[in-house]
Amino acid sequence: MAKYSIFSLLRNARDDHQNWPRVWRSPEPKDAYDVVIIGGGGHGLATAYYLAREHGITSVAVLEKGWLGGGNTARNTTIVRSNYLWDESAAIYDKSLKLWEGLSQELNFNVMFSQRGVLNLAHNQHDLRDLSRRINAIRLNGVDSEFLTPAEIKAFCPILNTSPKARYPILGASLQRRGGNARHDAVAWGYARAADARGVDIIQNCEVTGIRRKGRKVVGVETTRGVIKTGKVASVAAGHTSVVAAMAGLRLPIESHPLQALVSEPIKPVLDTVVMSGLVHVYVSQSDRGELIMGAGIDAHNSYAQRSGLHTIEHMMASIIELFPLVSRLRMMRQWAGVVDICPDASPIVGKTPVEGFYINGGWGTGGFKATPGSGWAFAYTIANDRPHPLNEPFALERFSSGRLIDEHGAAGVAH
Ligand SMILES: Cc1cc2nc3c(=O)[nH]c(=O)nc-3n(C[C@H](O)[C@H](O)[C@H](O)COP(=O)(O)OP(=O)(O)OC[C@H]3O[C@@H](n4cnc5c(N)ncnc54)[C@H](O)[C@@H]3O)c2cc1C
Repeated sequence: MAKYSIFSLLRNARDDHQNWPRVWRSPEPKDAYDVVIIGGGGHGLATAYYLAREHGITSVAVLEKGWLGGGNTARNTTIVRSNYLWDESAAIYDKSLKLWEGLSQELNFNVMFSQRGVLNLAHNQHDLRDLSRRINAIRLNGVDSEFLTPAEIKAFCPILNTSPKARYPILGASLQRRGGNARHDAVAWGYARAADARGVDIIQNCEVTGIRRKGRKVVGVETTRGVIKTGKVASVAAGHTSVVAAMAGLRLPIESHPLQALVSEPIKPVLDTVVMSGLVHVYVSQSDRGELIMGAGIDAHNSYAQRSGLHTIEHMMASIIELFPLVSRLRMMRQWAGVVDICPDASPIVGKTPVEGFYINGGWGTGGFKATPGSGWAFAYTIANDRPHPLNEPFALERFSSGRLIDEHGAAGVAH
C-alpha cells in the first residue's frame, strides 16, 4: 500500500478504477499441492499465510467456491474480544487478540482494528453474580476484564439508558478494554495479499465436490475445476464444515444455523464502544461509516439458506430501544444472514481427524471472526507438524468421546 502516493490515488479515483494492479494473482489450479485448504474465508486465508510465513510451506492452494471472504467473514458484525470463561478458550482467543494488536503492521494492510472496548451488561442479581465469576476467571488467566458500576457505565457510554426505572435496569457491566472491532473484508484481503506474495495460490470459483482417499489416507480433492492431488486437506468451510467432512467419510457433532444481523442508516458518531446484553438479547456497535450494526441470536432451525426474516428485525428493534431509546426513530437499512456451524459445547473443532491428512478447523459458530489470526496460526502449526499445538489441542474432535467438553454457551449470552 505504501508505494501509492496521494497523486496515484487521485489518478486512480479519476480513471474509474481502470488499470489498478491486482492485489493477488488469479492462478489456474495446479495438478498437485502439498496442502489444499477448502474455504477462502478469513480462517482459511490466515492458515495459508501462517503455513507460508511460519513453516515455509508455500505449495498451498486455497480453494473458494464463491468469492474470497464472501462467507461469514463478510457477514459478521466484527466483534473482537478474548473474555472467555475457560482456560482453554482464554489461551486461544487471547493469542488471537495479541495477533490482532499487531496485524495491520504484520500484513502491511490496515485491518482497522479498533480497541474501543466491549461492555457486557448485567440486569439482575443473577447476571451480576455470573459477571463477577467471569471477571475473576478471566483475570486469573491474565486477560483484562473489569467491573463497572451504573454510574461508571453512564460515563463510559452516555447514550445507554441507565435509569433505574428502565424495564431492564442496568445494574453493572464487565468491560474488556482491549476488545473492539475490525474491518472484516480487510482481514480477508490483507491475509490474501500476504499469502499470495509468499506463493500461495488463491483460487476462487472453485468448489470442492469430493475428497479422494486411499484407505485411511487423503490423496486429493475433486473440484469444479478438476482433480487436485495432495496429501493434506484442511477444511475451513465454516457453515459447511459437516458437508465437507462428509466428503471424507466423517460425521461431525455440528449443526448449521442461520445467524442474522442488520445495520441502520448512518448517523453521527454516538457510540464509541461495543455493547451487548444477554438478557435483553441484542448487541450493537457503530461502524466507521456511522451505521449501527446489530445482532442477537441464531435462527432456531437448521438451514443452509443465507436468508433473513422480519421476526429478527422486530426482536432486535424491541431490544435495542430498551437500551438506547434515542434510536427509536432510526431507519434500518440492510439485513442479512450467514450460516454458522455450532458444536454442542459452543467451542470449535481445530485439529486432526481419524482420516490421515484430513484436518478440520470449524464449529466456531457465532463467534469465530475474533479468532481468525489465532486459529489460523495454531491450525497452520497442526498441518505443518501433523500434531496439534498446545493452543488447539483441547479443541480436538475426540473431546466428544472423552467428555472433555469446553462449555462456552454463556460466553456472551448473545450470539456474536
Ligand atoms: C451475522 C453474523 C454475525 C457474526 N458476528 C460475529 C462477531 O461479531 N464476532 C465474531 O467473532 N464472529 C462473528 N460471527 C461468526 C464469524 O463470522 C465466523 O465464525 C467466522 O467468520 C468464520 O470464518 P471462516 O473463515 O471460517 O468462514 P467463512 O468466511 O464462512 O469462510 C468459509 C468459506 O468456505 C467456502 N466453502 C464452503 N464450502 C466449500 C466447498 N465445498 N468448496 C470450496 N469452498 C467452500 C465458503 O464459500 C466460505 O467462503 C458472525 C457470523 C454471522 C453470520
